[in-house]
Amino acid sequence: MPDTADGPYDPFAMIRATTGPELHAALQGVRDAGGAIGFVPTMGALHHGHASLIETARRQCEAVVVSIFVNPRQFGPGEDFTNYPRPIEADLALCSDLDVDVAFVPTVEVMYPAGSETVVRVPELSRHLCGAARQGHFDGVATVVARLFGLVRPHRAYFGEKDHQQLKIIERMTGDLAIGVDIVPCPTVRESDGLAVSSRNAYLGNSERKQAASLHSAMMSALTAVRSGERSVTLLVDMIRREITAAGPCDIDYISIVDSETLADIDTIGGHARICLAVRIGSARLIDNVAVDAPDASG
Ligand code: AMP
Repeated sequence: MPDTADGPYDPFAMIRATTGPELHAALQGVRDAGGAIGFVPTMGALHHGHASLIETARRQCEAVVVSIFVNPRQFGPGEDFTNYPRPIEADLALCSDLDVDVAFVPTVEVMYPAGSETVVRVPELSRHLCGAARQGHFDGVATVVARLFGLVRPHRAYFGEKDHQQLKIIERMTGDLAIGVDIVPCPTVRESDGLAVSSRNAYLGNSERKQAASLHSAMMSALTAVRSGERSVTLLVDMIRREITAAGPCDIDYISIVDSETLADIDTIGGHARICLAVRIGSARLIDNVAVDAPDASG
């Protein structure tokens, strides 16, 4: 058994790839054998939300690729690109523990080589919700995911419902461009008090962390009201706003109830609706969403 520079040769060790050719070489065997390649794109600072996506991919695919890339193009001026956590060694250890085959950790130059200029834009879905305040954010997301899909060439890609708008934009892009990747939505993983797990929760101080649970509990109160017959979006949004502001100082970017597919605002609960919100507590901008299933909703 040959030794490598890193120690004894281990045929099951996770491969770390930095460039396209390294990635292709790592995946050649499984591709030749006709195995399904599952892909989980991330920005690192991995937590159990990411882990659930990786575990789902592991169950469904012969090979699992996780990318770790903090994408500069999806951060606006004054956003947290520089401070975004980058615990790369811990991330790689978690990937290895989760039996990931290839960790793809490209540089900015690999993702955006000199001369690259193409931008992928999904304009209608991108103008709602987070897109209104974060100009260009979803262009950055769609462009990086399109390039990652081109490099990894996965059969399936796993995205969290926690980022519902992002999921819808990637589904639309993949369909519109006939990219041929199955997009697999994965449920939001939450802390025991309901707060959606997020890399950005690390920015919360102790009291802010307690306060942040109000986002989920306010949405749950709205769902209870819907179950009791409330259908007015104005009243429900107002109820959520009051519960969140009562919990402590915060800056509400938006609280919206939208059509789950088009992301357009609705007036009355019905069909497939979604409560979506973005709230800043301290220096953390937190987003979350839940599906609203009115008992009399059609479909
Ligand atoms: P990020 O590293 O924040 O870009 O997230 C990478 C992927 O993990 C995206 O598809 C996210 O939607 C997903 N994700 C992040 N947090 C969670 C969570 N709490 N539950 C499920 N998926 C998540």
